[in-house]
Amino acid sequence: MSISPDDPDLTLDPSDWDALRARAHTMLDAALEEMQRKPGGPVWQEPPEALKALFDRDLPVEGLGPDVVSQDMQALLPHGVGNTHPRFFGWVHGSGTPAGVVAEIAAAAMNANLGGRDHGAIYVEKQVMRWCRELFGFPEGSSGLIVSGTSMATIIALKAARDRALGFASRTEGVGAARLVGYTSTQTHACVARAFDMLGLGSDALRRVPVNAAYEIDTTALADAIARDRAEGLTPFAIIGTAGSVDLGAIDDLAALARIAAREDLWFHVDGAFGALAVLSEQLRPRLAGMERADSLAFDFHKWMHVNYDAGFVLIRSEEAHRRAFSDRPGYLQGATRGLAAGNPWPVEYGPELSRGFRALKVWAQIAEFGTARFGALIDRNCAQAAYLADAVRADPALELMAPVALNICCFRYLAPEAMAAEQDHLTEELVIALHLRGTAAPSTTTINGQKAIRVNITNHRTGFADLDLFLEEVRAVAADLIAGMGRNTG
Ligand SMILES: *Cc1c(COP(=O)(O)O)cnc(C)c1O
Repeated sequence: MSISPDDPDLTLDPSDWDALRARAHTMLDAALEEMQRKPGGPVWQEPPEALKALFDRDLPVEGLGPDVVSQDMQALLPHGVGNTHPRFFGWVHGSGTPAGVVAEIAAAAMNANLGGRDHGAIYVEKQVMRWCRELFGFPEGSSGLIVSGTSMATIIALKAARDRALGFASRTEGVGAARLVGYTSTQTHACVARAFDMLGLGSDALRRVPVNAAYEIDTTALADAIARDRAEGLTPFAIIGTAGSVDLGAIDDLAALARIAAREDLWFHVDGAFGALAVLSEQLRPRLAGMERADSLAFDFHKWMHVNYDAGFVLIRSEEAHRRAFSDRPGYLQGATRGLAAGNPWPVEYGPELSRGFRALKVWAQIAEFGTARFGALIDRNCAQAAYLADAVRADPALELMAPVALNICCFRYLAPEAMAAEQDHLTEELVIALHLRGTAAPSTTTINGQKAIRVNITNHRTGFADLDLFLEEVRAVAADLIAGMGRNTG
């Protein structure tokens, strides 16, 4: 068979639409079946060799055809990260929704590019933008952009902060000899230092201020650090607070940070990747006071709002600073007042990406279908679950709680017997690996004050309290096995 450009039927569209329709329905059924079945199966399983082989083929010059491709995709379906399972507790992952699949179908069919222009999809993103403003108490004139996640949102926000500090000349001249420094706590997510790196400031220009006993930034130490840097001729430009720290869920005193930023004339950014959405809970909202005064806020829809991966948002108080940090409109991107090139300003003027997919639709659909109150209730439940787990840990002398539970994260460990105290961290690591391999639960690990911890993060609308009971039973059983094994090896 040879493929000729002269063939009038040469296209990527199906020759038989009914066959495509049947194939699409089959895939939809298989996908939903997998989602429905997931809670009863393992959280995670190691990708089998047979699966890896499907994705280790030679580059197809002639296509494999629809049947093979559909089969391979169906074989892939059960091999997710596990975050659609009620006992996925690792890192910070949202758990997604079956309803999200419906929005993805419509988005894929429209195949919209949201870099700009005047078309339906743009209005969906603008709606999400207005909802975000309202949700976080940002003013009418603020701007925002749907992005892949908080990492990208942070880069965009801090670029606006950097450029404003340098009168926007940095866009053409670079940062030159300007010695900009920013401030955050030792608990801040690594994406902030990475943004400093990518923005040419260097990650050393991000000062890591110590935290108090609640793992919140020490505001006295912060003020001291700013004064010290000013005395040394450096130029402080930003404070980065955290609403829900990645290790422990700690929330900085955002009102105090807002006050210091205002007094010092610094840009105030908040990393609220998951914690910012705690504003949806009546109970938790007061703890985020001050966030509404931020110059910028980065957060994810794919974590505590369970939008299927990926979707985050950057919200910026000053639309002008935001636009001036990114806008340039070369000849081939000129807008118009009428026609398809209308709809100014375009989203491309607020971020580094020109081609942008239609993430807005799944975000809009999630919020529109479920409403904010339901997310708030689920957030409250996750926090109650972390507290419940901490109580159970405290009640068991074999377990040790390693930090206070601030929000939805509980860090603990299974204590090694006295004779094996030197192998405590090893036991903790092996325990988590064993849980993963058994497929019963998927916590992750972190290091707290130099010691390994089992880290249970609950951003999961499927988790029940019984899942936590079962999880702890598994922890005890696996630990007993491991300790017996370690005893044999050392004895
Ligand atoms: C997840 C997370 C990030 C990074 O967000 P991505 O969406 O993964 O890019 C940043 N900060 C905190 C506190 C997080 O939990």
